[in-house]
Amino acid sequence: MIRLYDTHAREKRDFEPADPERVTMYVCGPTVYNRAHIGNARPAVVFDVLARLLRHTYGDGRVIYARNVTDVDDKIIDAARAEGVETAVVTRRYEDFYLADMGALGVRPPDLAPKATETVSEMVAMIARLIDTGHAYEADGHVLFHVPSDPDYGGLGRRDREAMIAGARVEVASYKKDPADFVLWKPSGEAVIGWDSPWGRGRPGWHIECSAMIERHLGRTIDIHGGGLDLIFPHHENEIAQSRCAHDGAPLARYWVHNGFLSMAGGEKMSKSLGNVVTVGELLDEGHKGETLRLALLSAHYRQPLEWSSQLVAQSKATLDRLYRSLLPPVAKRGDGDPGEVESALADDLNTPLALARLGELARLGDVEATKRAAGLLGLLQEDPVEWFQGSASPSPDRVDPRLREEAGSFLDGAEIQLRIDRRAEAKARRDFAEADRLRADLAAAGIVLEDGPQGTTWRRA
Ligand SMILES: [Zn+2]
Repeated sequence: MIRLYDTHAREKRDFEPADPERVTMYVCGPTVYNRAHIGNARPAVVFDVLARLLRHTYGDGRVIYARNVTDVDDKIIDAARAEGVETAVVTRRYEDFYLADMGALGVRPPDLAPKATETVSEMVAMIARLIDTGHAYEADGHVLFHVPSDPDYGGLGRRDREAMIAGARVEVASYKKDPADFVLWKPSGEAVIGWDSPWGRGRPGWHIECSAMIERHLGRTIDIHGGGLDLIFPHHENEIAQSRCAHDGAPLARYWVHNGFLSMAGGEKMSKSLGNVVTVGELLDEGHKGETLRLALLSAHYRQPLEWSSQLVAQSKATLDRLYRSLLPPVAKRGDGDPGEVESALADDLNTPLALARLGELARLGDVEATKRAAGLLGLLQEDPVEWFQGSASPSPDRVDPRLREEAGSFLDGAEIQLRIDRRAEAKARRDFAEADRLRADLAAAGIVLEDGPQGTTWRRA
């Protein structure tokens, strides 16, 4: 039995899907206008582990996991304007980056990745229904959700009204009937992306997107809705209100699961103004393996705050070295392990610290089979152990069979490396960042670390 902490109930509850043949989960996805930072990666990795656990428990074809792509947003419009390109150029580029970055962290693509721009007609239909039922109104080219029309508004975070108005930092526009009212639809000028609607040419607000996508792809009520703690208010409160009011009171989700914040060393919030934003791409460029970053993200319980530091990354690398070393032949097996112990730790509200401790026990027993099976639930130890140690700074030489190394080896000479660096520079110049990333990843896999500097790119063997 899986138990999950439900933000709405404020307690751990047994997880019982409405239909065990069709378990549904939705997680709010990225707004694609820049590279994902390591804090953005936390929900992607956490809910990837939950999806793995659900599939393991209910069966592969019985879980539908959807994560949206927000590809229309004022930040995207600003970024496209700054570059002088169409918004689609920006969104496609950063969606590709997002998938590549998360893929490097071992995050499997969700079953569904609906785009906001492909769900506009559903949003328009839902907004029209909200107007018809008296929960929304048109004013000055905008359509707004009227918060006082929903007496249950704010039930998820249970904040009082004053705190919600202050916290929302909503502009108190003259056309709003109530300061807490939020935008469902807003007008688009000629030069801005927009769609025709009963309220004129415009574009959707952010919150309505998730409600419409869930309705279209998963149904009125889903089993699990996930996201970061920072989304509870206003985003999730607004999603709940829109969906419930459009669906005759049917609740949006049966379990609400939220991951905690990631901060930088010293407890500082990661922010552009503090200049301490660390992107997944930068960490990979520094030569860290995606799996190391994944383990670091899973080292704390998902609801706890996680402090990111180079020490955490180094510890995670050392842990993975130890785990991979236990898989290298010849293995001296000391006993039988039970992968179910790792599973039961995860089933208890995704207790990843306990699961990792138990995984370490399996590795110490030398039970390769049990270790690998259990690690699969965490999305770890998926690489060949010999390949893992290629180019590693601290392999245990006495445990590595040199013949195995040679077979798996793909030693590159300087000329070949330089050729690939040049190709990467060409790809970057034509803004083909996916290709540039692929070339860097290929080199990293062969133990070659690239360093971009003002004089161009240099390389060294890791
Ligand atoms: Zn959402």
